[in-house]
Amino acid sequence: MIASSQDNPINVLNADSLTIARQEYQYNYTHIPPLAMVDTIPPGEDFTNSWYFLLAQQVRGIFVNTLITNRGNRGSESIRDDVRLFILEVLLKGAIPFQTNIIVKVLQIVPQILAQGISRDFRELDDLLFSILKDSGITILRDSLQKVIEILYEGQPKGRATSLKDYEKLFPVLGVPSIATTFQEDEVFAYMRVAGYNPVMIQRVSSPGDRFPVTEEHYQAVMGTDDSLATAGEEGRLYLTDYRLLEGAIGGTYPYYQKYLYAPLALFALPKGSDPNRQLCPVAIQCGQTPGSDYPIITPNSGKYAWLFAKTVVQIADGNVHEPVTHLARTHLFVGAFVLATHRQLRRTHPLSILLRPHFEGTLAINDAAQQALIAPGGGVDRLLAATIDNSRVLAVYGLQSYSFNNAILPKQFKQRGVDDPNVLPVYPYRDDALLVWDAIHQWVSSYLNLYYATDEDVKKDVALQAWVAEARSYDGGRISDFGENGAIETREYLADAITLIIFTASAQHAAVNFPQVGLMGYGAAVPLAGYAPASFLTKEVSEEDYLKLLAPLDQAQRQYNLLALLSSVYYNKLGEYSQGYFTDPQVQPLLQEFQSNLKQVEATINQRNLKRPPYKYLLPSKIPQSINI
Ligand code: MN
Repeated sequence: MIASSQDNPINVLNADSLTIARQEYQYNYTHIPPLAMVDTIPPGEDFTNSWYFLLAQQVRGIFVNTLITNRGNRGSESIRDDVRLFILEVLLKGAIPFQTNIIVKVLQIVPQILAQGISRDFRELDDLLFSILKDSGITILRDSLQKVIEILYEGQPKGRATSLKDYEKLFPVLGVPSIATTFQEDEVFAYMRVAGYNPVMIQRVSSPGDRFPVTEEHYQAVMGTDDSLATAGEEGRLYLTDYRLLEGAIGGTYPYYQKYLYAPLALFALPKGSDPNRQLCPVAIQCGQTPGSDYPIITPNSGKYAWLFAKTVVQIADGNVHEPVTHLARTHLFVGAFVLATHRQLRRTHPLSILLRPHFEGTLAINDAAQQALIAPGGGVDRLLAATIDNSRVLAVYGLQSYSFNNAILPKQFKQRGVDDPNVLPVYPYRDDALLVWDAIHQWVSSYLNLYYATDEDVKKDVALQAWVAEARSYDGGRISDFGENGAIETREYLADAITLIIFTASAQHAAVNFPQVGLMGYGAAVPLAGYAPASFLTKEVSEEDYLKLLAPLDQAQRQYNLLALLSSVYYNKLGEYSQGYFTDPQVQPLLQEFQSNLKQVEATINQRNLKRPPYKYLLPSKIPQSINI
């Protein structure tokens, strides 16, 4: 218990260690201006070797699949021969320079592979890829990695698909993702809103609103004449996804396609009755914000390809909100600001610092990699997402600046969108599972903090804690919007909510939006990351050809899968698993054990739920990393 600020161990200043931390952890506001990011990666914030090894294993699978897709038809006898020939070609073309330590690995592994062949699962490549990836921070290797990638993509399928089957041919080794066979179904489209990769958009409405003049006729043609739009609105059965924030976004042209981005509205309804398994049905879609002849209202009765086209427009919009806003800004960059404030304001021995740090492992490193290579000109976002790179960066800025910390407290978020009551909206797997994990974290955080703060007064008197809040909020600090109670932290209750939000975002929320990338977003026919045709011509009949023109060209689809597979396959560390002896205060042990046993219970509950619904596995505690590191 904390007696007074005088002898409070929290407040003993250790100027030296904080001075060093403040030199190492400096803010930069120009990487993605004006967001707060780390200037350069401090010592000790680099990825670990075991992280690189996990990455190398993922790269191996993607690499072999891509290689076989792109050059598997060159007459060699087996996939293993193709891999050997590729390695030989890369060496002969001098893509791997002889002046780095990679060559040591190359000399160890490659002669063996060339002479004796390679095993069925290509595991020999892991060591080599590990070395290449780990050392690619060195400029010369980054260039050579680039050359290897160029050679890999030579001969890739290009141009527009002439049939959906073309997309299936991109997976000769990995197998076609299962979404390929289900994405056209309305149930799957609706389920994406409540259990998909961006399950945070859906909101309850009493009517579709002036911007989206859905009529009773439209409604009844889908939901039946014994129901009505007005009744559904009154009974809380109408739900909207509104992509207004994408209005006016400028379509990019990198690498060489004109890409399109849309700001659609989609209306969903729950059928009448009290069936506990009643699910949302898609009713109508409008592909732009301005009603009228350019953007007619499309329903399942508008024709097979018009409806498919409109649903895909919604997926494209959803993907372009997901990556810059929901994923990058509201998990990666949000948590990144707290990593800096924590290191700069809390000594390593401060109880809050001890609690938070394991949830920050690898976050500055991955965020820095993202700003340098991913959301940068010529990077993956520029290539694959719909907007220009500048516009995608603006979306990330908007995503973070418009994200009020105080409104982000999870139960509040659901209330604000009108989706908090399971009696009104029964099937919302993300909500139900997220709240279970939230409660487990909240209980752990509260009980832990109660060890050190017996009263609200103790919270107010913790000078270091107050400095931490002030810095996270400030213009010269983390620039977190709407954080604190009157600019400070005044109560134990608020402190517990705030720390729960940070840990939940660093673990569960990131898992919920990061790991569906490969399974749900990776398939370029189901969720193209950009549109490749305008959506304002749906006034005429839409043909299969029109629909195919909207989808990702095959080279883009291949790159999309590869990038998203890489980003959503590294599970490094696990929620609730702190290193042995990490908490030295013996009072923490029983609380930690309780947290871990609660997480096991959550795991069991979610597994139980998955027996009665299409499985939603992204919030199983065993699949939630402790920190954002990919
Ligand atoms: Mn991520």
